[in-house]
Amino acid sequence: MLDRREALAILGKYSLAFVFDSAKLFRGNARAAERPFMITPAHIGKFTADNPGMMTLQGTNQYVVGRDSAVVIDVALSSDGNMDGIIEQAEAMGAKKIDKILLTHIHIDHCGGALALKKRTGAKIGIHRSRAGHLGGEDFQYGDNDRIAFGEGELEVLHTPGHESGHCCFYESGDKVLFSGDNILGYGTAVIHPPDGNMTDYLRSLERLLEFSISLILPGHGPLVGKPEAKIKEYLRHRIMREKQVIDALRTGRNTIGDITQMIYVDVSAPLQRVAEFSVQAHLEKLMREGRVKREGSRYLLLSDN
Ligand SMILES: [Zn+2]
Repeated sequence: MLDRREALAILGKYSLAFVFDSAKLFRGNARAAERPFMITPAHIGKFTADNPGMMTLQGTNQYVVGRDSAVVIDVALSSDGNMDGIIEQAEAMGAKKIDKILLTHIHIDHCGGALALKKRTGAKIGIHRSRAGHLGGEDFQYGDNDRIAFGEGELEVLHTPGHESGHCCFYESGDKVLFSGDNILGYGTAVIHPPDGNMTDYLRSLERLLEFSISLILPGHGPLVGKPEAKIKEYLRHRIMREKQVIDALRTGRNTIGDITQMIYVDVSAPLQRVAEFSVQAHLEKLMREGRVKREGSRYLLLSDN
């Protein structure tokens, strides 16, 4: 098990997806995720980066979309092995070339290999316009509702802030597939890490996704999600439950992030406590934006009985 410092080091490095009661859940679901039930349209392939961990589940899912000219969504690692894996996946699908690299967000486990893949393939790198210049080698920018072509179709960009303010999902309306990045995971929940992570935005992004007809979610980590609407609603319910728990804790006189976290996350091991605190902080900041909570130093106070 990681000690607190190691966990924080990982968090600093990746700052992303994560399962709270990780150890048990991770092993159980890791086995389930290895089952060969990955049924995706023939023009979509996946190569999972060799970066498994507490924050990345089995590793980052990197998707190849298109058989004529292909688009790659997210590139986690710059190692030769990872480049080979993505390129071989594209070749196995019959892709003639990799044209573009799209990034769901700028956390290192999603963009860390983008420049290396560009160097290997000549593909053009796209990034959300709020993150222009982050890598120093992007070729184009995209924003909400932009459409990006691949060989046989196009992907619609959905700017979905919350996990990261420039986070984008990519929606292929033809097959009703959503590439969800770290907004929705194969299992567990995404970390919302203030200040860039924003719970208000995150819930809005989830609600917006419910407006789309989605038959399959391909997440940034973990197995595919075959019941998208149920999953998104489950995510929303989970956050609403957490918010209620935060309010209940405030009512009982807990008023620091540490105390509230201890009350809510009873079973969380020490290394994960800090990560749980981010979530509590994100909920408190949402409640402050809504005028329901105020902050005095390190203390948070409920303003009205709601
Ligand atoms: Zn991630």
